[in-house]
Amino acid sequence: MNKIILLLVLLLGYIVFGNYYLINYYIQPGDTIYTLARKFSVSPTTIIDWNDVNPYNLKIGQLIQIPQPEGILYEVKQGDTLYDISLRFFTTVDAIKEANDLTTSYLYVGQKIFVPRKIIGLAFNVYDKDFIWPVFGSITSTYGWRQHPIYHKTTFHTGVDIAAPEGSPIFSATKGVVRLAGEYGGYGLAVIVDYGKYEIVYGHMSKVCVYKGQTVSKGELLGRVGSTGVSTGPHLHFEVRINGNHTNPMVYLPSYSRMYVLKSDNIYVGGE
Ligand SMILES: [Zn+2]
Repeated sequence: MNKIILLLVLLLGYIVFGNYYLINYYIQPGDTIYTLARKFSVSPTTIIDWNDVNPYNLKIGQLIQIPQPEGILYEVKQGDTLYDISLRFFTTVDAIKEANDLTTSYLYVGQKIFVPRKIIGLAFNVYDKDFIWPVFGSITSTYGWRQHPIYHKTTFHTGVDIAAPEGSPIFSATKGVVRLAGEYGGYGLAVIVDYGKYEIVYGHMSKVCVYKGQTVSKGELLGRVGSTGVSTGPHLHFEVRINGNHTNPMVYLPSYSRMYVLKSDNIYVGGE
């Protein structure tokens, strides 16, 4: 633990949960999400994900909590197994068990599973293509003409839909700069990441964890799966644009059957 964090823990108090603890910090004048992230050596995304904060308008005096080690929580849904959760975080069952001191595979609905940042993305497929899959889930709608599920007429579907339970993590398929983070018409809560000649759109989120202007690495948490905007259920709408024109995202993603590729020695390969 670095000295500054240790000092803050002693001064400000902290709450211990199993294998992680939360630092309590009250927002001071002059703080920004960026400076707080630097102060606590975490990604801005982690602070936004854990706290109900508006990154553009922090409230002085508001309590925020920062997990140490850095990581994110996942709340167990009906039917979830540890294996399902490990896939959603592109990690392994053993890594999740170890991080949560679990001795059995029994889970209960509402249980909070802590996923340290260092185990996320062990199985991102960084070998086949420039992009990684942003969500582990099932494809429910491909790019192209389709019968619209809500409007019941033939429309062009401008991206690919990946269904996953509400609250599942959405990871950035590429590195880039966030151009939009928030409401975006029929896309609901959305994020647009600028990656050179590509713009990548992530739609229908339940929560956005990045801010406009933020630089994100490949594999960074962008938000959580939801069903905001024009949507029939929790899924990610993933869209790739070149010069403002949508294009088939499947061209840029590893094949569907190679969404999850675990390196044999479990070395973290996400991020760049
Ligand atoms: Zn869609």
